[in-house]
Amino acid sequence: MNSATPLDDMLELDSLLSPEDIELRQTVRRFGEQRLRPFIAEWFETGQVPVRELAADFGKLGLLGMHLKGYGCGGSTATAYGLVCQELEAVDSGLRSLVSVQGSLAMFAIHRWGSEEQRNQWLPAMAAGEAIGCFGLTEPDFGSNPGGMRTTAKRDGSDWVLRGSKMWITNGSVADVAVVWARTDEGVAGFLVPAGTPGFSATDMTHKLSLRASVTSELHLDDVRLPADAKLPEARGLSGPLSCLSEARFGIVFGSVGAARDCLQTALDYVGTREVFDKPLAGYQLTQAKIADMAVELGKAQLLALHLGRLKDEGKIKPEQVSLGKLNNVREAIQIARQCRTLLGANGITLEYPVIRHANNLESVLTYEGTSEVHQLVIGEALTGVSAFR
Ligand SMILES: Cc1cc2nc3c(=O)[nH]c(=O)nc-3n(C[C@H](O)[C@H](O)[C@H](O)COP(=O)(O)OP(=O)(O)OC[C@H]3O[C@@H](n4cnc5c(N)ncnc54)[C@H](O)[C@@H]3O)c2cc1C
Repeated sequence: MNSATPLDDMLELDSLLSPEDIELRQTVRRFGEQRLRPFIAEWFETGQVPVRELAADFGKLGLLGMHLKGYGCGGSTATAYGLVCQELEAVDSGLRSLVSVQGSLAMFAIHRWGSEEQRNQWLPAMAAGEAIGCFGLTEPDFGSNPGGMRTTAKRDGSDWVLRGSKMWITNGSVADVAVVWARTDEGVAGFLVPAGTPGFSATDMTHKLSLRASVTSELHLDDVRLPADAKLPEARGLSGPLSCLSEARFGIVFGSVGAARDCLQTALDYVGTREVFDKPLAGYQLTQAKIADMAVELGKAQLLALHLGRLKDEGKIKPEQVSLGKLNNVREAIQIARQCRTLLGANGITLEYPVIRHANNLESVLTYEGTSEVHQLVIGEALTGVSAFR
């Protein structure tokens, strides 16, 4: 079965993939079309998404923490993980977020910075989708500058006592374990906070117009007492959470391409049948110019994602390269989504078509895991040697 869409075929991108990658992509694409797409508009509209059921399904497919090794994780290549993100985000950025936060933020933090006991306790259940994790870094007053965080962790005997709050935390209220970053006397440190710990609570953030098929929460830490072994022993300072963000950004480099591809495919289908001034919209030069320009940017974004995937698989990728990929691919994806929206006319503003949903979702994707401006500053610093963050 040919798994490629006409847009995949444009640059013969499958020639750059292994047969295993193509098969995996096809499996996830089929799952997305059959099990996710029929429901996604309703999940988005109601803001109600069955996170637990989805996590179990994703776990069965082996998608959670798939690029991590051992502890029930798949040990796949980074490129394979990227292709999975691409297919999930072709349905909705919120669904890719679920997989990203679980695998690249919460599981990666435990895998990279946790103790053997912490890994054994959490990772197999998280890989299976039986336990859900969240990642609490952002605070009401500190998003782009997490180093300013006010949440503290103080020693009390051998215990730790956490106090503060976190905001915009994906899956916060449905998580079984929260990876919470807090300021200690020795700098920023990470802690595993199981749901139900006294003093710890999460409330959902409502009235979102973006990423509605995703749970977003505030975390409240009101003198949360944790044993000494709740601390991630290997993480020291801000490099701990930043390493996790780099992992999640990598998934977005691919994922955003999926959202853009879905918009362009929808627009291509639409202009072939929609008649204006007595002939299909596809037959107008203005339409074709838009479509050609979008296909060019989509192809460049796909090639960039694959190149970064290869660099990551070779263990060579640098943070500024991930920033370049995230900056370009999300920026182009949102432009493509908006341009496709124009081609659909008034139909473009409804949930009958995925385009405005993708466009709205991509507003969040543009902002989280480092805003576009933050990535410009990362790239600028790498090229000039001068930090311009403050
Ligand atoms: C749907 C959603 C889900 C999220 N999930 C999570 C999660 O699971 N865990 C988590 O920890 N966080 C999460 N976030 C938070 C996200 O990472 C932050 O929103 C992001 O880091 C930006 O922070 P901010 O919103 O505080 O914006 P700010 O940092 O206040 O930025 C506001 C503006 O200022 C710009 N800016 C900032 N610094 C500079 C500078 N030095 N120079 C010039 N311009 C600058 C920014 O680019 C932006 O345009 C989520 C956010 C959203 C929207």
